[in-house]
Amino acid sequence: MRCLFCKIIEKEIPSKTVYEDERILAFEDINPQAPIHTLVIPKKHISRSLDISNDDNELIGQLFHVANKIAKDRGVAERGFRLVMNCNREAGQTVFHLHLHLLAGRIMHWPPG
Ligand code: 5GP
Ligand code: ZN
Repeated sequence: MRCLFCKIIEKEIPSKTVYEDERILAFEDINPQAPIHTLVIPKKHISRSLDISNDDNELIGQLFHVANKIAKDRGVAERGFRLVMNCNREAGQTVFHLHLHLLAGRIMHWPPG
């Protein structure tokens, strides 16, 4: 399955890489909703959080470790940052390749819209 984010992983579609290792890619969101808006994704294609299996437990932990590292490196870890994962249509998921939004650099409101 070769979705939009799979093509970004393959560098077939350009993106601004923030972090990359064997299993994870992080890149800038094309339509940022905050001064920092980075997407952290597994290189393995998983469509939605509903499709995470037990085999993926370590991988999902790595997603969070990478998000934390980026927040620290960008100097927003102590100020605060938000991690969001939308699942399915009503939550606003538009790209069906698992991704963690890292949002930071402004006051976040709650509840989210
Ligand atoms: P979702 O709405 O599925 O939770 O988030 C998808 C995100 O992917 C959106 O924030 C959207 O701006 C971003 N996005 C969609 N297409 C592209 C693209 O081609 N490149 C990048 N860098 N981000 C994209
Ligand atoms: Zn994909």
